[in-house]
Amino acid sequence: MELRDVESDITEILFSEEQIQGRLAELAREIERDYEGKDVLIIAVLKGAVMVLSDLVRELKFHAHIDFMAVSSYGSSTKSSGVVRIVKDLDAEIAGRHVLIVEDIIDSGLTLNWLIGNLESRGPASIEVVAMFRKPEAIKEPVDVKYVGYDIPNAFVVGYGLDYNEDYRNVRGLAVLSPHVYGGEDPHA
Ligand code: 5GP
Ligand code: MG
Ligand code: MG
Repeated sequence: MELRDVESDITEILFSEEQIQGRLAELAREIERDYEGKDVLIIAVLKGAVMVLSDLVRELKFHAHIDFMAVSSYGSSTKSSGVVRIVKDLDAEIAGRHVLIVEDIIDSGLTLNWLIGNLESRGPASIEVVAMFRKPEAIKEPVDVKYVGYDIPNAFVVGYGLDYNEDYRNVRGLAVLSPHVYGGEDPHA
């Protein structure tokens, strides 16, 4: 089946796949430098971060171990409440290890803050975050993110792993979803 034409569903392409790959390569060089000689466990939160994770680890020149968590936000399925339930926990023990959390996008920061707190209680050697996208205007809880791909405007975006109703994840670049698709109000605001 062909990927449905999504041009009429989006208002703007913010970053092409090539731009995203180029920026990820720059971040990978920083991460290689910062973690030289260390054992790193790279953790992605399903599902949005799978594209960033798979592109990042293949760009890295060191042996990166990976693991996954799935969480669900209490309350509305699209709005972040910061109260989170673990749907799938890590397979690995992280005590004493260097943990790098890979995120698709940081919006309010509530989910990520909860996750950092949860992982910190397990006694890792360190925790840092790499986020492909961040919306500085949407932040409700400040969160310390060491590696940021791009800061973007406060709009609802899809592609590169990010969905609307589970759709658009496999759009290759990052695009602003047209409000006519979701009927006006930003689904995540
Ligand atoms: P936060 O807790 O930072 O508000 O949001 C966490 C999650 O909400 C992100 O990992 C992502 O899954 C989703 N999210 C936030 N903003 C957007 C957006 O603009 N588009 C999409 N598709 N998902 C978003
Ligand atoms: Mg996420
Ligand atoms: Mg989503």
